[in-house]
Amino acid sequence: MIPSSRTADLVALGQERYLPVYRQRSMVLDRGQGARLWDIDGRDYVDFAAGIAVCSLGHADPDLVAALAEQAGRLWHTSNVFHSEPPLRLAAELAEASRFAERVFLCNSGAEANEAAIKLVRKWAAAQGREPARRVIVSFRGSFHGRTLAAVTATAQPKYQAGYEPLPGGFRYVDFNDATALEVAMAAGDVAAVLVEPVQGEGGVMPAAPGFLRGVRELCDHHRALLVLDEIQCGMGRTGTLFAHWQDQVVPDIVTLAKALGGGFPVGVLLAGPKVARAMQFGDHGTTFGGNPLAAAVARVALRKLSSPSLLANVSRQSGALRAGLEALNGELGLFSEVRGRGLMLGAVLAPAHAGRAGELLDRAAVQGLLLLQAGPDVLRFVPPLNIDDATLADGLQRLAAALR
Ligand SMILES: *Cc1c(COP(=O)(O)O)cnc(C)c1O
Repeated sequence: MIPSSRTADLVALGQERYLPVYRQRSMVLDRGQGARLWDIDGRDYVDFAAGIAVCSLGHADPDLVAALAEQAGRLWHTSNVFHSEPPLRLAAELAEASRFAERVFLCNSGAEANEAAIKLVRKWAAAQGREPARRVIVSFRGSFHGRTLAAVTATAQPKYQAGYEPLPGGFRYVDFNDATALEVAMAAGDVAAVLVEPVQGEGGVMPAAPGFLRGVRELCDHHRALLVLDEIQCGMGRTGTLFAHWQDQVVPDIVTLAKALGGGFPVGVLLAGPKVARAMQFGDHGTTFGGNPLAAAVARVALRKLSSPSLLANVSRQSGALRAGLEALNGELGLFSEVRGRGLMLGAVLAPAHAGRAGELLDRAAVQGLLLLQAGPDVLRFVPPLNIDDATLADGLQRLAAALR
C-alpha cells in the first residue's frame, strides 16, 4: 500500500496541526456508499467500523441525504429560544419509540447527553432534600461514558482519567456484572443513581450478564436511586432491538443516545421517564446547538429506518454470519479466546498468546482494505453498518482472514 504524495502530504498536515490525541491510519478517506469507502487514491475499504458504530445506515443513504438536503435549503438553526418543526417531531417520536420517556433533551454528542443525565440525577436528588454527599452516582469498571470532566469521571477506567485530576466528586465504581458488589456499594443509602451500559463498548464489548440489569433495577428501587442506561453505542438497533435494554426486561429512568442517532450527523439525546421528567425547570440546563433542525431532520429519518422490522431482521441475520465467519477463522488460526456481544456489536477477544496486539491487527486489516476498531488492546470490535448485505459482509470477512493470516 504505497500512498500518493497527496495522501502523504495530508497525513503530514494532520501530524503537524492536530492536537496529537489520535493516531489515524495513513490513508485519507474520500467517499462512501453503503458499507464501502474509498480513499483519495481510489483504494476501496469494507467498513466494519461505521465511524465508531455511528453510520448504522452505511454511507450516503439516499433517504438521509434527501432529508439533510431538503432541510439545508429551508432552515439551519433557530436556537432553542424559538421552535422549529424537526426537533419537536423528533422529541415526540423518540419518546414514543422509547416506551418509557415522557420528556426529551436534545444535544449534540454522547458526552453531552451523559453530562445532562448526571446533572439531572443531581437536581432530582437535590429536590428531594438529599444533601450533596448523598447524591453519589455508581458506574462500572470498564465503562465508557465520554470525555467531558464529569463523564470521564463516570468512566471507570484510569487511563481516561489520568492527569485530569481534580475530578468531580460523588462517583463510586463497582465491577461490572457483580450484583453483590453493587449491593455493598449501595448499602449506605447515599446513592442517587446507577449509570450502566447494557453492553459495554469501549471497555471490551462486554454484555450485561443475563438478569444483571434486572438486579440493578431492583437495588435502585430498594434504595430510591435512578437507573440510567447509556445506550450511546449499543442503542438504535445495534444489538438487534431498537433499545438494547429491551432484551434485559428493565424499565429505566433515564436513557442517553447519540452515535447512530443521526446516522453520522452529530446529535445526542437524553430521554427522561416520569420520575425525572420535571426535575429540571426553566433555566436549569441548555445548549446552543442541541436540537438543531438539520440534525433533527436527519435523525427522524434514521429513527424510522433503524426501527424497521426488516432492518432489525438484517441485524440478526448478519450477526449470525459474522459470528460464524469469526468462529471459522478462529478454527483455522486459533487467535481468539472468545467471540462475544449482541447483534452487530461483536468483540473477538485475543487469546493470551496474542494479548495486546489489537492495534497491530487493525493496521494489517487496513492494508487489506478493511476498516476495523479495537476495544482496548485485546479485543477486535466489529460494528458494521446495520444494513450491510451478504456479499459485503463476506468480502469483509475475506479481507479479515487475509489480515489475520
Ligand atoms: C462514544 C460513547 C460516549 C461518548 O460519546 P461522544 O459522542 O464521543 O461524546 C458515551 N458513552 C458510550 C457508551 C459511548 O460509546
